[in-house]
Amino acid sequence: MTTRPIIIGSERSEVGLPAGMDLLRHGGSALDAVEAALRLCEDNLEDHYVGTGGLPNARGEVELDASVMIGSSRAFGAVGAVRGFPHPISIARAVFERLPQHCLLVGSGAELFAEEQGFERAELLTDEAKRLFRESLAPSDESVEGEKTVAARGDDRYRVTAIELVKRFRPHDGPWGTINVIALDESGEMVVGVSTSGYPWKYPGRVGDSALPGTGIYCDLRYGGAACTGRGEMSMRVTGARMVVDALARGEAPSQACRLMLAEAATLPDAYAAELRTLCLTPVGQHGGAAGQRGSTYNVMTTASTVPEVFPRTPL
Ligand code: ASP
Repeated sequence: MTTRPIIIGSERSEVGLPAGMDLLRHGGSALDAVEAALRLCEDNLEDHYVGTGGLPNARGEVELDASVMIGSSRAFGAVGAVRGFPHPISIARAVFERLPQHCLLVGSGAELFAEEQGFERAELLTDEAKRLFRESLAPSDESVEGEKTVAARGDDRYRVTAIELVKRFRPHDGPWGTINVIALDESGEMVVGVSTSGYPWKYPGRVGDSALPGTGIYCDLRYGGAACTGRGEMSMRVTGARMVVDALARGEAPSQACRLMLAEAATLPDAYAAELRTLCLTPVGQHGGAAGQRGSTYNVMTTASTVPEVFPRTPL
């Protein structure tokens, strides 16, 4: 018996979902569909939270996290704090496919691996992202001119600036954040993938939930797959995606499974406890989402769709 393919994604995944569904519709694998969808999102220069065009860390460098998890085997591949490679989702895939007994590579090791495996390099900091970075730097310290100047002033000066910047980042209005994609193919395989530039002005070397299994991403074909967007530290502290999948395993409906995880995160003593969104998919194609904010949505495509259909996330 074949499964009816479906692909779902967070806000701004609409750039990539049609390509993913195109593959699924023609018998393609969930893994290929997730990778194809996320690569297009990573290439979207308008999107400042993923891939090329992503907003940089406090030092003005774009550092990317991405991961992918396979439902049937719970195979997992991820990269964290990778610089200079525009398609971290493909490097994450290569980690589990080509590097036995490795799940996660970070920083210079991940870049070495990507280089050795022949992944293309690119300048990820666009002029627009540079402008946004400079503007964010300017208000509290007009004497700091840009990322090169920050680094050049010495470590102490730099550290103060970095910490100021990190503190200055407030969640934006609108659908900002990591992109999550979950696909179910006709063989019944499910795959979850996530890609992000992390939150803007993060401390250099900071790796978020998008590279960590059980937190920003989880997939177990017996129950379903889940992924998170928003303050990664919140989903790390509650092991968010794993919590959602555990709730599915207990028989909770998809939206309720998502909502229960957010409710747990919201109990933590943190100003950003409600800054989280999540979505999930079950092995029979049921889906749901929840968000700490009102008005948040997610996208769905089935074989019958011509364009992604937008669903509301259940508010916390
Ligand atoms: N979850 C991401 C992170 O913490 C941020 C985001 O969704 O924008 O790196």
